[in-house]
Amino acid sequence: MKRCDVAIVGGALMGSSVASFLGELDPSVSVCVIEPDPTYEWCSSLRASGGVRVLFSCPENIEMSKFGRDFIRGFPQRMAVGGREAPVDWVQGGYLFIVPPRAMRLLEANYERQRAHGCDVEMLDPRQLKERFPSMFVDDLGGGVHSPGDGWCDPNGLLQGFRRRAIALGAEYVQDRVAGLTRSGKRVVEAQLASGDTVRADVFVNATGAWAGEVCAMAGMPLPIVPLRRFEHYFTAGSPIERLPYVKDVDRLAFRSEGVGFSGGLVDSDEPRGFNFEVDHGYFERVVWPAVAHRFPAFEAARCHRTWSGLYEQCELDGNPIIGNWPGELENFYVVSGFSGHGMMHAPAAGRAIAELIARGSFQTLDLSRLGYERIIRGEPYAEVGIL
Ligand SMILES: Cc1cc2nc3c(=O)[nH]c(=O)nc-3n(C[C@H](O)[C@H](O)[C@H](O)COP(=O)(O)OP(=O)(O)OC[C@H]3O[C@@H](n4cnc5c(N)ncnc54)[C@H](O)[C@@H]3O)c2cc1C
Repeated sequence: MKRCDVAIVGGALMGSSVASFLGELDPSVSVCVIEPDPTYEWCSSLRASGGVRVLFSCPENIEMSKFGRDFIRGFPQRMAVGGREAPVDWVQGGYLFIVPPRAMRLLEANYERQRAHGCDVEMLDPRQLKERFPSMFVDDLGGGVHSPGDGWCDPNGLLQGFRRRAIALGAEYVQDRVAGLTRSGKRVVEAQLASGDTVRADVFVNATGAWAGEVCAMAGMPLPIVPLRRFEHYFTAGSPIERLPYVKDVDRLAFRSEGVGFSGGLVDSDEPRGFNFEVDHGYFERVVWPAVAHRFPAFEAARCHRTWSGLYEQCELDGNPIIGNWPGELENFYVVSGFSGHGMMHAPAAGRAIAELIARGSFQTLDLSRLGYERIIRGEPYAEVGIL
């Protein structure tokens, strides 16, 4: 049997971020991270496309992005261990949200909100869009918002950097899978592992992404977070095209440049929920190519070189994460999941938030209480209405 102060279930980006921030905030706390797969083969963190943007509608998401973006920019030096930097290949390529006329009011409202939060964003009408990005077809667009300070990074670098830092600060990674949780009244007291071992702790954190619903069920906590398969493709344009930011539209087409080509996809919100990693090799041709070639005719001759699948940890209530415990019912069991496609960029802020709840008893820097579990109990969505 192992004994520690805090046991973190799931050791990919979210779990490693919590472990790292906790180690900084209170070095006296012993932290154990239970993660079955050190290669992280199926975890969402290594399947992310790396985008970091402030273009959200909820103040919490905007602020988590602002913190995450600054943190990621300074990541190599800040997270250096033993003089060795933690590279994340940050590219400040900017983000561009484009919408048809029917969505302009939403885009404008979000733009005002982002400006009120001090974001560097510019509203562009179709003529300005055409001037800036000559290869874009703009005739059916109402406008767009460009955020030049945004960009993308390497999710693997981010995960490995957090993990190395957490270990340097004293966290112990246990290669095992949590198979059961034991409660004593309103507390989780023990985790049973697949190997037959057990871990006892004062506090537990559920950072298992798309698996979070399964792990919460072990403690009798209902969670509306489900796996949603999503394809990512690597493709080349076929014809020369100017340098583009991370482009995203209301139909959930999203792509960015990567090397000589592009990485991106188009989320199918109607995709059946569940653990499914099968790759549909016709999806690019059928769904993505028509959308991308319509917007940028230079992609008429686009060629898809690789398609992979990953899971969004989708919060079915409102597309926002659940960050916190179940007050009055399960005080020492914290959930940090449900980011619905935004968890890489929000991992620094969410990890810090959970570390604050554990070490200080309340949010210290960003008040994320509206993203807590109470809204799930009340059945009251707090929806993100930025373009998802
Ligand atoms: C295709 C794709 C593109 C994306 N693009 C972006 C993007 O551009 N920007 C962005 O911010 N986000 C993006 N995301 C979302 C982002 O990847 C996730 O929100 C984030 O990685 C979630 O991290 P996590 O650590 O919570 O989950 P995961 O990375 O899935 O890790 C969960 C971990 O829990 C472990 N685990 C599971 N069950 C157990 C158990 N019983 N016991 C112990 N451990 C367990 C797993 O082994 C896994 O390592 C994308 C996601 C996908 C799929």
